[in-house]
Amino acid sequence: MPKEIEYKELLKILPHDDILQQCIHCGMCLATCPTYDITKLERSSPRGRIKMIKSVARGEMEMSRIFADEMNFCLDCQACETACPAGVKYGRMVETARVVIDNTKYVSKAGVTIKRFALRKIVASRDGLKFVSRLLWFYQKTGLQKLVRLSRILKFFSKNLSEIETLSPVIADKFSDTQIKEIELPNGEVKYKTAFHFGCLMNTMFADINIDTIDVLKECGCKIITPHDQVCCGSLMGHNGDMEFALKLARKNIDAFDKHDYDYLISNSAGCGAFMKDYAHLLEDDPAYAEKAKRFSSKVKDVMEFFSEQKPELIFNLELEPELTTYHDACHLIHAQKISTQPREVIKSLPGVEYKELEEANWCCGSAGIYNVVRYDDAIKQLERKMGNIKNTNAKIVLTGNPGCMGQIKHGTKKFNVDVEVLHPVTLIKRLLKSHQKS
Ligand code: SF4
Ligand code: SF4
Repeated sequence: MPKEIEYKELLKILPHDDILQQCIHCGMCLATCPTYDITKLERSSPRGRIKMIKSVARGEMEMSRIFADEMNFCLDCQACETACPAGVKYGRMVETARVVIDNTKYVSKAGVTIKRFALRKIVASRDGLKFVSRLLWFYQKTGLQKLVRLSRILKFFSKNLSEIETLSPVIADKFSDTQIKEIELPNGEVKYKTAFHFGCLMNTMFADINIDTIDVLKECGCKIITPHDQVCCGSLMGHNGDMEFALKLARKNIDAFDKHDYDYLISNSAGCGAFMKDYAHLLEDDPAYAEKAKRFSSKVKDVMEFFSEQKPELIFNLELEPELTTYHDACHLIHAQKISTQPREVIKSLPGVEYKELEEANWCCGSAGIYNVVRYDDAIKQLERKMGNIKNTNAKIVLTGNPGCMGQIKHGTKKFNVDVEVLHPVTLIKRLLKSHQKS
């Protein structure tokens, strides 16, 4: 792509030039940035990246391999946004820059093609993802996985492949969309009219958490509408250079839910919830969808946000011994959705919990969407730090509200030998409910 077009494209799709202007270069974000913490280089910091984006967009600096690599080295954790006194929307800038660099010679064409194929044809396609999940299920259940691990054959293909293989979650026997009815009713009176987004990876690879969520919501008195024509939220595409496709998915979801009457759209995945809350901004210039997107986004609630606000009455087994429990903030909950006190309030109120705060609970675990797959070595540096902090709590349970973090921390328990159970908070709630305990 010629230089002039790169600049024009970057300027055209950067949200607004005034966002670039907002950075006052104070450096308050530097101490919160995991990549700056590793390299101590200005260009690996939020401030440095903003300066580079600004310079490239204005034609003052040439697009380069270093520029592309720094945009992809960023975890897009958005810790810098939380720290920023000027309200700079850094996430939107880096995501826009990624759209541009994927069309340059500085990023491997084969890599972009594989990434795009995997995200469009597998992750975003329910049938495609089910097919791959079934293969993985077969691989795990038949003992093939054990054989591959014992033979260490994957090491012949690439240094990290055998490690990446262990990141795969244990696939449930049944997907959640085959178990959740389009309309689920509580046993007693209907207190809340809710809808549920079952997601893509949550539906196939974390199906049990979706079932736990439905069970707990029913216990709270929720009528739950789960449209089966809903699709993946688009966050993985939006964060990884394919915003055009992400917006197509956003419109499909809006259409799927718009037909129904509900007050809260519950999500149990931090990444999906954050992206769906952002549909309003992402589609604000689309005359056909701007209003509908605003309405849709205003109803999205993380499941722990919903519990914290509504305080539904739940009946717990009070005879259980409390277990030492800690909590890791998923970046897309604390930084993107500004949700941090709510899950803690709910967790601390549970009778089966003795709570201990985690040091650096809001530091990224290195999962970051597909970052731990495409940049495994960088992701592991963040994970090692996270596992050290978890170990220091002596907790028996670590809770977190995002599937990516759960998978990454589970990987860390084996890699760094930390004896802790990793759960979604909603799974713990279900486990403590009197009505769901085995006698
Ligand atoms: S998003 Fe995270 S990794 Fe990227 S610049 Fe901000 S703090 Fe650093
Ligand atoms: S992004 Fe915000 S915190 Fe970071 S240097 Fe700019 S103004 Fe300061």
